[in-house]
Amino acid sequence: MASVNAREWAKNVIKQEEIDKYLINGKDFIDEDLIWDKLSKNSEPDKEYIRGIIKKSLSITRLDPDETAALLNVRDEELWEEMYEAGAEIKRKVYDNRIVFFAPLYCSNLCVNSCTYCGFRKENPHEKRRILTMDEIKQETEHVIDAGHKRMIVVYGEHPQSDADYMAESIKAIYSVQKKAKNGNGTGSIRRVNINAAPMSTADLKKLWEVGIGTYQVFQETYNRDLYKKLHPAGPKSDFRWRLYALHRAMDAGIDDLAIGALFGLYDWRFEVMGLLYHAIDLETQFGIGPHTISFPRMTQASGSELSTNSEYIVSDEDFKKLVTVLRLSVPYTGLIITAREKSEIKKEVIQVGCTQTDASTRIGIGGYSEAAKLQDEEKQQFMLGETRSLDEVIREMAEIGKISSFCTAGYRCGRTGDKIMGLLQECVEGKFCKLNAILTFKEYLDDYGSDETKAIGEELIKKEMEEVRNMEFYQKHNLIGKLEEYYERISNGERDLYL
Ligand code: SAM
Ligand code: SF4
Repeated sequence: MASVNAREWAKNVIKQEEIDKYLINGKDFIDEDLIWDKLSKNSEPDKEYIRGIIKKSLSITRLDPDETAALLNVRDEELWEEMYEAGAEIKRKVYDNRIVFFAPLYCSNLCVNSCTYCGFRKENPHEKRRILTMDEIKQETEHVIDAGHKRMIVVYGEHPQSDADYMAESIKAIYSVQKKAKNGNGTGSIRRVNINAAPMSTADLKKLWEVGIGTYQVFQETYNRDLYKKLHPAGPKSDFRWRLYALHRAMDAGIDDLAIGALFGLYDWRFEVMGLLYHAIDLETQFGIGPHTISFPRMTQASGSELSTNSEYIVSDEDFKKLVTVLRLSVPYTGLIITAREKSEIKKEVIQVGCTQTDASTRIGIGGYSEAAKLQDEEKQQFMLGETRSLDEVIREMAEIGKISSFCTAGYRCGRTGDKIMGLLQECVEGKFCKLNAILTFKEYLDDYGSDETKAIGEELIKKEMEEVRNMEFYQKHNLIGKLEEYYERISNGERDLYL
């Protein structure tokens, strides 16, 4: 692959017919004027109207754009408090008190694009370019497994050397790694590999589907197409529409767990929340399934990028909490991901209002897990991290506030994906299975990787959870209590990867 001319390659990435087929009456699902119109029409929402919308969210129903626009315009702090509470309540209903953990793995910073906010952009002279070999990917995976992880998101720049074949090989390499657990009880492995990568053709996406990709994640960055053009002046990423329909193509390739996102700080946060909602609605309309998760990374400082620190749209902590809350209320059954870009204090606060997944022990340098000593060296990273604590520390903190850490990947392996999982989430049933699998995977973590301190707090929480399960009608009715107790016992005796 090294001999491929990157510029020539980049010219052939985009297949116009794989954009056009998703337009409805020749139009995109994003109409900037319509978004601004909704935001201005709903700029003075009535208190009772807002309370009605909150009620609708609590019934686990997706909101319409007008309703989301109204929530985004709330100014009354008392109403915001009600919305935060509703966010937490929805999270409890759909996802219970679980938080799912994953680790990112950066495989390559080679990139043909020029995103003005990213340290990997091709013009950045400070970036030392590197692409991991399959052996290096396996080594990195061993470190991630040693931290206690079971789920990974693999990240790539866009480049002919990290094309779909390389991605497919890297996914296979990660799944192949088995590593003896730290506390010597079991064997660890990565059970689910998700990816964050550039938009691809349907044919390339099929290659990833064949090797068992989990979720495919593409962030639109901004839904404002004029700004998008300015921020992405060159390379395939400069095509707004190629990116806008990346996940539509993935659906057609058979990948039905899809993740959308926007990079907050590039443009008005209220506008971007509306863009995300329209994106979710269009996937629902065209395929009957919305996104599996939504991400809302806030732009952080990146090497050599002035924009990353001086943008006029930088989102404050207060607004960040608000935007996550509005997303929680707008798409109550969709997972929300908060990453280690955020500092631990804000992460903790925002998890309470509705996030379902986060990362920990994160390293974003290429080869960063193996070269742990050099980690917070800005030159080696795409951007700076806000949270650098170990998975064990973060899990302990979560347990202290009553949240159970989950490494569950059962849903995917029991066929609870795509429209099936969406239906179960909407009916609040999937969360019930997840609660049991969360207990089982948390127990595995504590036995195999937990420090003594985390084990003590974690075991107490598990006891409480088991008691709760025993008293819940749903589990009694479905005869699940006996099964949970049997699996718990077997895991305590050293068996691994048992799930319901
Ligand atoms: N190259 C692929 C792409 O752009 O889709 C995937 C990898 S890219 C590193 C993953 C994401 O990192 C981007 O979609 C962007 O949202 C995010 N990102 C880039 N620069 C960032 C920054 N300065 N702060 C926070 N996130 C950033
Ligand atoms: Fe490349 Fe992605 Fe960074 Fe843009 S955001 S420069 S495409 S790695």
